[in-house]
Amino acid sequence: MKVIWAPWRMEYIVSNEKVEACIFCPGGDRSEDEERLILFVGPLTMVIMNRFPYINGHLLVAPVRHVPGLDDLSGEEMLDLLVMVRRSIGILHGLMGPDGFNVGLNLGKVAGAGVDSHMHFHIVPRWSGDTNYMTVLGETRVIPEHIRETYHKLLPRFQEATLDPGGWDESS
Ligand SMILES: [Zn+2]
Repeated sequence: MKVIWAPWRMEYIVSNEKVEACIFCPGGDRSEDEERLILFVGPLTMVIMNRFPYINGHLLVAPVRHVPGLDDLSGEEMLDLLVMVRRSIGILHGLMGPDGFNVGLNLGKVAGAGVDSHMHFHIVPRWSGDTNYMTVLGETRVIPEHIRETYHKLLPRFQEATLDPGGWDESS
């Protein structure tokens, strides 16, 4: 691995020592949303930025309930989750203009899930030629300042989505 600049890896180790709570379960306290990179918490679905992204703009969309798999979701939760996946793609597309997206689930540790007890969709924006970029940067990939900057660009878009959940204009 080629370490270019990765101070957050230390933060990860430190925070793992003291925080046992699930990174997805939003809890009732919204004051730490920015620190936790939480963009949206609805009645059924939430959106959080991946702290260890494959690329800038890597989002995670999860049910608010702490459940491991698709079988545990109600029909209403399934629909809400997929609607939020679509909305997140629309927001990323409008803000960052990627050429495509990878959207997927890692179910179980063996499949690559970092947190396998609380299911979540990965949404990874892709740009033509970004594989070269990712190969070069290896595991470091994105510096944390970029994550914070992107968080503050994405947040108002998700807040608009909160105010008007039915009226998202995907062309914007
Ligand atoms: Zn959880």
